Amino acid sequence: MVKQIKTSLVCSWCFSEASTIVTYVGDSIAKMECENCNHVFEVSRTVLHSYLISDWEKRGFTKPVRLAREIRKDPSHFIIGLPFRVISKPLRMAKELVESYDS
Ligand SMILES: [Zn+2]
Repeated sequence: MVKQIKTSLVCSWCFSEASTIVTYVGDSIAKMECENCNHVFEVSRTVLHSYLISDWEKRGFTKPVRLAREIRKDPSHFIIGLPFRVISKPLRMAKELVESYDS
């Protein structure tokens, strides 16, 4: 039940629209690989993700928390549907989130 599709998405790492390989396991997205920067976005680390969201809530970052919740709910929708002007502001927080995936 693993399949891969190639599509054009706005990368969550380099924030440019690039050719992206999306890997599905069943009906869920397991990972997305950006062909521009080769960053691999894995969707499965939800525990860490939840921790970061609660941390940001304490620090009063409402916008990135809302965005992060949208990513968790539906990563594909988030990346396809998010306009550039919206991501530009919480860019630092988004980077913080993505960097934490690699640590
Ligand atoms: Zn990228």
